[in-house]
Amino acid sequence: IPVDPFDLVIFGGTGDLARRKILPGLYRRYYDGQMPEEARIIGAARSEMDADGFRDFVRGALDEFVTKRHDKKMVDAFLAKLDYVAVDAKGTGGWDALAKTMRDGVVKAYYFSVGPALFGDIADRLHEHGITDDDARIVVEKPFGHNLETARALNATLAAHFDETQIYRIDHYLGKETVQNLMAVRFGNMLFEPLWNAQYVDHIQITVSETVGVGGRGEYYDKSGAMRDMVQNHLMQLLCLTAMEPPSRYDPDAVRDEKLKVIRALETTGHDDIVRGQYKSREESYLEDVDNPGSITESFIAMKVRIANWRWNGTPFYLRTGKRMKERVSEIVVRFKEPPHSIFEEDTGQSANELTIRLQPNEGMDLTVTIKEPGPGGMRLIDVPLDMTFAEALGEEAADVPDAYERLIMDVIRGNQTLFMRGDEVEAAWAWTDPIIEDWTRREDRPYPYEPGSTGPEEAMILMHRDRRRWRELR
Ligand code: NAD
Repeated sequence: IPVDPFDLVIFGGTGDLARRKILPGLYRRYYDGQMPEEARIIGAARSEMDADGFRDFVRGALDEFVTKRHDKKMVDAFLAKLDYVAVDAKGTGGWDALAKTMRDGVVKAYYFSVGPALFGDIADRLHEHGITDDDARIVVEKPFGHNLETARALNATLAAHFDETQIYRIDHYLGKETVQNLMAVRFGNMLFEPLWNAQYVDHIQITVSETVGVGGRGEYYDKSGAMRDMVQNHLMQLLCLTAMEPPSRYDPDAVRDEKLKVIRALETTGHDDIVRGQYKSREESYLEDVDNPGSITESFIAMKVRIANWRWNGTPFYLRTGKRMKERVSEIVVRFKEPPHSIFEEDTGQSANELTIRLQPNEGMDLTVTIKEPGPGGMRLIDVPLDMTFAEALGEEAADVPDAYERLIMDVIRGNQTLFMRGDEVEAAWAWTDPIIEDWTRREDRPYPYEPGSTGPEEAMILMHRDRRRWRELR
């Protein structure tokens, strides 16, 4: 179903994120017929170029980043929807021209794909030039603040000109198909929710591991580290969706209220429950990649987190994320408890059920169940997976789902905020993160070294072994 006609302005339309994700995503939505003919996309950035120059830039981006659905006719038709205005966020140049370009009677959306230092300037200019209305939407990218104080300031800056219902804070993890499926599985079945609590769940693991290092983002990354760059936002969001109470409706505030309650119920994680790491070998090291020999910023973190409420009392959540790891994977593993009593004498293979929700790669779910090993050998038990890879279950085509960014941008045009973070959520997440970071700053805590391409420092394994548990193995 096509969305309503819109004018989408991409501030930073010539930047890396626009080139790799936003513009290719918009093309795919156009290709799939979700974008009405009247829709327009306006690049707005510092570079002096005209609309044709921007179209050439976007053509290059589509050639590079659109593999399936690349069709010359469709690309030309898509490019015809593009326009470009050179603006200076910090000055006056270009704003009158932008104001003239915007049409009345269509949805106005402004994507702030620029550094957060420019958010306030852009919001001010939009307001001064009267280019917004009560229905206009703004989309803001991460990082949303560096700590609670800066996040509050950023929220206040945006709130000066926009109502909370107009602000779309992107966390692209929330746009992933499987994340929405997590809610469908939890609240659309009778099978899981009754067991989804401390009485039946032994523990939950959330892993987001990357094989790449810090790449060209060294300077930025070294100032944030894994805790700020990944845990405070992406892992926290996954934790919330896994742990939250059933919302009364699938609507933005009902869902976000429940997520907020989870964040507020988090206990501060003590020093003993955190392992920080930095990749390091003779050939390759984090310190060289960020060009800061004395850096104590972590490129890996593993932690045991507790949620102080009735549902989860006694069930820990283990989070881990890192760069230069063995496998690129994002997944949530729900490990159920073992049956209270075994009736089988030859109790060789029996263990606990495990539900794995994979965000990438091969989006899908996997549930291990214990069965009898086939054959005449007596009552021997083995664990087998009930695999629910969507591509297999539904066919390749149905599993060819929109990328997170394209889905989220269409939600902005539709005015649906469910998969975006609310201001108070972001602040609550920082309020939990800040004291932990302050604690290790005070201690001048040094990360443990780990081999690039490994599963992280040995100490992260010990964090689990201590509790007689194991991380799901990275392959
Ligand atoms: P970039 O440096 O590649 O692009 C910046 C864009 O901003 C350019 O188009 C530039 O012309 C424009 N710009 C800079 N100063 C300006 C000014 N004064 N007036 C008008 N335009 C100006 O940055 P990026 O990597 O595309 O990142 C954009 C935002 O998205 C940042 O907030 C970043 O943290 C966030 N982000 C990026 C990625 C990514 O993969 N690149 C991922 C997640 C979040």
